[in-house]
Amino acid sequence: MARFCSNCGNELNENTDVCLSCGHLVNTNIRANNQGKALATISVIFGSLGFYPLIFIGSIVGLVTSLIGINDTNNRYAGRSKIGLGLSIGSLGFWILMLFLLTVITREIIR
Ligand SMILES: [Zn+2]
Repeated sequence: MARFCSNCGNELNENTDVCLSCGHLVNTNIRANNQGKALATISVIFGSLGFYPLIFIGSIVGLVTSLIGINDTNNRYAGRSKIGLGLSIGSLGFWILMLFLLTVITREIIR
């Protein structure tokens, strides 16, 4: 994934901390960024997994990881975490709706 200097916009090499164009020191918080990236990616994967049957727990994992990612101020991947949050809420809502419908249908059958 390409990175760009926050000062001059020059494209950066993957493993450099200094912009070769203007000398601006960039990405001094690599560990936090990697953590944020991992959290965001997990939230997207699990949030979307939540749409599939019997992976209800994916919605919960996606929701938790995306909220942690969004609340992390150093997280450059907060945007991706927000996508994960949307997917998690969407899949969670989907399952709540399905459980609700299942409950209503079951009651109708039993009656
Ligand atoms: Zn630069």
